[in-house]
Amino acid sequence: MSILVVGSVAYDGIETPFGSIDRVLGGSATYISLTSSYFIDQINLVGVVGNDFADADINRFKDRKVDLAGLQINNEGKTFFWKGKYHYDLNNRDTLDTQLNVFEHFDPVIPASYNKPKIVCLGNIAPALQSKVLDQVESSDLVILDTMNFWIEGAKDDLKETLRRVDVLIINDSEARELSGLPNLVKAADAIRAMGPKILIIKKGEHGALLFTNSSIFSAPAYPIVDIFDPTGAGDTFLGGFAGWLGRSGDLSDDNFRRAVIYGSVMASFCVEKFGPERLFDLTNAEIADRYTEFRALSAIPLQTDNSF
Ligand code: AMP
Repeated sequence: MSILVVGSVAYDGIETPFGSIDRVLGGSATYISLTSSYFIDQINLVGVVGNDFADADINRFKDRKVDLAGLQINNEGKTFFWKGKYHYDLNNRDTLDTQLNVFEHFDPVIPASYNKPKIVCLGNIAPALQSKVLDQVESSDLVILDTMNFWIEGAKDDLKETLRRVDVLIINDSEARELSGLPNLVKAADAIRAMGPKILIIKKGEHGALLFTNSSIFSAPAYPIVDIFDPTGAGDTFLGGFAGWLGRSGDLSDDNFRRAVIYGSVMASFCVEKFGPERLFDLTNAEIADRYTEFRALSAIPLQTDNSF
């Protein structure tokens, strides 16, 4: 039983109203794999780093028992670098710098031992590369894809091609509107689900998330976080928790997708408490379980004793 994670492994520079950091471990595959490692044992990472990637950061994955047989080390260049600056409310950010470096010529190769995963997590990379990964996967129960405005604007045809092969799409509200060309999220969801993914999650930042399946719409609450320092990686961490729970439980029913959305939200709520992925190294099972319970309580509606208004 394994989860295959493909995406960026990066160094990030981050500026928030609470402080800044020049260089910290980041990348979509980093956040997804570290997070899902709390749920199941076999997490297989496929990505690329450059000659500047520190042994100490390799060890951070090893400490969480993430399998690195699929991590390419390209000595010809440097690791992907991204720099972002968050606005005062932390909901919006500007990308200040993106240096693709070794990522520019990344050709994902899936080791033979990785090609029958239970779940495939296609982190945010070029849609053509996401397709290339799927070409190499022999069988899987579920394919989950994350993407961003950059690809919706710059590689829409490739993205639509890839979406036909995907079971679950996770995007934010502005991306859903952009991808569908529709301002209303319910109509946008119908249009996007017709493109391929039968399950769609639309994240609404600090306002929770919507889950669309064949049979229902589920609205997940947002956790009222007191200590929010750095939202970087929250989206990828959500994906890691969502996939992790589905892998751990092995249950792909609609009810269980709802639970998975809550586990995704739980893990994202931890991620933002510290800079970079720091919080994802020292979580305990009890912390995860407790916050899951808090999430459930957040939107539990007591039954009425009668039917009057
Ligand atoms: P999130 O905050 O969940 O959207 O993810 C932030 C992470 O995405 C950072 O750690 C970045 O290194 C990574 N990232 C930013 N831009 C890109 C890109 N164009 N391709 C792949 N990864 C990216």
